[in-house]
Amino acid sequence: MQDSLFIQEELNKNKSYKVLARKYRPKSFNELIGQDILVRTLTNAIKMNRFPHAILLTGIRGTGKTTTARIITKIMNCQSIDLQNESLSPCERCDSCVSIASSQHTDILEMDAASHTSVNDVRVIIENAYYAPVSSRFRAYIIDEVHMLSTSAFNALLKTLEEPPQHLIFIFATTEIQKIPLTILSRCQRFDLRRVSTEVLKSHYLNILKQENISIENEAIDLIVKAADGSVRDGLSILDQAIALSHGTIKGELIRDMLCINNKVQIIELFMYLIAGDVEELLNLVANLYNSGGDPVMIANQLLELVYEISKFKTLGDANYITGFSQSQLEKIQLLQISFLARSWQMLLKGLEEVKTSIMPLQALEMVLIRLCYLNASITPEEILSKLENSKLDDDKPSESKPAPVQDTGPSPKVNDVDNLLTILYEKNELDLYYMLHNEVAIVEFEEGMMKINPLNYSPHGLVNMLKKKLKETTKIEWHIELVKDKALTVGLQNKQQQKEKKKLLPAMIW
Ligand SMILES: [Zn+2]
Repeated sequence: MQDSLFIQEELNKNKSYKVLARKYRPKSFNELIGQDILVRTLTNAIKMNRFPHAILLTGIRGTGKTTTARIITKIMNCQSIDLQNESLSPCERCDSCVSIASSQHTDILEMDAASHTSVNDVRVIIENAYYAPVSSRFRAYIIDEVHMLSTSAFNALLKTLEEPPQHLIFIFATTEIQKIPLTILSRCQRFDLRRVSTEVLKSHYLNILKQENISIENEAIDLIVKAADGSVRDGLSILDQAIALSHGTIKGELIRDMLCINNKVQIIELFMYLIAGDVEELLNLVANLYNSGGDPVMIANQLLELVYEISKFKTLGDANYITGFSQSQLEKIQLLQISFLARSWQMLLKGLEEVKTSIMPLQALEMVLIRLCYLNASITPEEILSKLENSKLDDDKPSESKPAPVQDTGPSPKVNDVDNLLTILYEKNELDLYYMLHNEVAIVEFEEGMMKINPLNYSPHGLVNMLKKKLKETTKIEWHIELVKDKALTVGLQNKQQQKEKKKLLPAMIW
């Protein structure tokens, strides 16, 4: 991270500063947060003297695998542990506890498999494994990132795992369980450390900040918890940096800058341009975000998150699922269809991978967003027609997703030309009809009450009658509509091209 040098300097200035993850590292099961099931199982196994000789701790980084391993070795060797106690807490005072805490216990060996992958490294361990422990009940080997061991190293371990000496405990930790050979897996008892939930993380961090006497804005703590994504340690290291960089209260703005998170308001704005099909404004905003340090992957991620929030809001109807929208924006997203949101989600998810792997992430992001803008264009005319046919039914019953068409009591507006008609349709929220005339047909001839159209891709059955009916409803005049096939195809296409240049894309909200 670009600020790391600076932070290191800040930390050096204050030599007594100990990173939070170390300062608040849990010393007993009681202090291990968010892993209740694991703690219960391990506690019972120890109490019943059924602790396995080899256990495998798995889970994402920063959930407490090595911490758990150390707590286990402490409990197993503590000279004054009370096994009758409901919760098992090492005393922290006996010789064993003290030397384990300072990593100086002769019988406890911690090894990082990432830097000791060879069969020779494992052989040294195995040779020592058979000697009785020098100063404690158990000899324990904690092997971190065990998936990094070579195949021959794993093979060398097998025999010892199969018939371990009574005094020996292996504790393996890994983030990538799928890389562990089955022969090893079957000889270990596996324990999964879970991602720590948002609520538990938040209260844990707030508790630490309270002890540190540091205040934090609510937005800032929420952003940190979100970025931590279930990893206690990840969140704490963000907090370390934030403390080094802030003077007084830790502000949301600082965390946004640190994590390259764009302001949610801007992401919402981006999404509104997306659903309005406003490619130009959309790309302008993306450029702005990029120039002010926004990361294309992060932008795609945040859009995904937003689509998820809106979908949850739309399906469950609880406004708590969305934040940061203005009233008018809320009204617009009310109109969105779940099918549109589902498709946006799929395209964004696929797009996110493209952005991540592209050597030109910004351009990749722009392409994804342009595709999304044109999402509505992939609707077939048959779908539109069926929507038009059904819309009469929709009008009769109250509908949450589509507002009733504006009741026009005044004199009917004049319909002089195509643009005029399209504007009227748009304003009256007749978006299906707008889309049909705008994207699916070339208008070859036009005057008020008369239109000659050339369907560009298909000629849906009943198109003319449906258009007549809907246009009459909207403009209050009779329409004569004629389908022309071959004649003036070029004129129509030019016409369509001109229309496209003049008009923005259809708002995606009707889908
Ligand atoms: Zn002790």
